[in-house]
Amino acid sequence: MTPEPAPRTGPDPPRPGEAVEVAPGILWLRFPLPFALDHVNLFALDDRDGWTVVDTGFGDARSKDVWRALLDGPLRARPIRRLVVTHFHPDHVGLAGWLTARTGAAFLMVETEWLMARYLVAEDPGRALATAMAFYRAAGVDAARLQSLEADGHVYPRRVTPPPTTFTPLVPGAVLDVGGRRFDVLIGEGHSPAQACLWCAEDRLLLAADQILPRISPNVPVWPQAPTADPLARFTRSLERLRALPAETLVLPAHDWPFEDLHGRIDALVRFHDDRLDAAAAAVGGGATAFEVMGALFPRVDDVHQLRFALGETLAHLNRLVEAGRLVRATADAVWRFAAPR
Ligand SMILES: [Zn+2]
Repeated sequence: MTPEPAPRTGPDPPRPGEAVEVAPGILWLRFPLPFALDHVNLFALDDRDGWTVVDTGFGDARSKDVWRALLDGPLRARPIRRLVVTHFHPDHVGLAGWLTARTGAAFLMVETEWLMARYLVAEDPGRALATAMAFYRAAGVDAARLQSLEADGHVYPRRVTPPPTTFTPLVPGAVLDVGGRRFDVLIGEGHSPAQACLWCAEDRLLLAADQILPRISPNVPVWPQAPTADPLARFTRSLERLRALPAETLVLPAHDWPFEDLHGRIDALVRFHDDRLDAAAAAVGGGATAFEVMGALFPRVDDVHQLRFALGETLAHLNRLVEAGRLVRATADAVWRFAAPR
């Protein structure tokens, strides 16, 4: 949660299985998620003789039921011609394999994102878990939570139907014609490696996926396979690039509600992370592990799902502070310790 959420523009959210027009020719769809963040927004775009759908929902039975209701209900008049998936997270790509098999829709995804999704389903689960456990140990996670993480295993393949083995690359800078509307493919980094956002200049519409959200700050995680990465720098740079779009833009995000104050929301997110960087530096004090800093930044972490998010983002702040010269990282007994530089 960030202070100053952006106010909602337009209609109330649809219930799962319903569709609400948020702009001419653009239907807003809502799917359930089995987490505290309990929904994801999808969009179906009028593409003349069919629909172009953006994202798929989580890979579970409930989401399949919602799709069945939509295909027999609000979307029934026309086939789904194209499926655009914005990034590899399970609430976005979760049913891509299932939905393309069912509809025959063309499947478009940015190459890096498709590779991530395929890698995470194809990787040996034991090796994936070993990589993750080494990361959590290095972060200083306590024994009880290490045990919970180990017991939970490699979760990604349980959250998606296997993504299609072939795809049409969504190329950064390309233009998609959707029912006569031109959408530029913009890339947002930091939340995921190369998230696709679709920008229609003529109608000032931004399908933003998770890159910019009205209420919460998108999770910006360091993940086990790249423990020294600096995703926050990439996230902030991506937000600054979005600032080139007009202030009066209708943003259609993947969570919560459509909003218009794009520049104000960019400012709020940049301020939020600046404050979090200061809070992380203060929490390090005379020296601390990532897990100890997480305890200060995220006082309530109830389960392993939240722990992965909270620890990944804490490390994003710590790694940014290291890159900026405000902290140093040392390794002792395979555990990272962060401290102010001497
Ligand atoms: Zn995401």
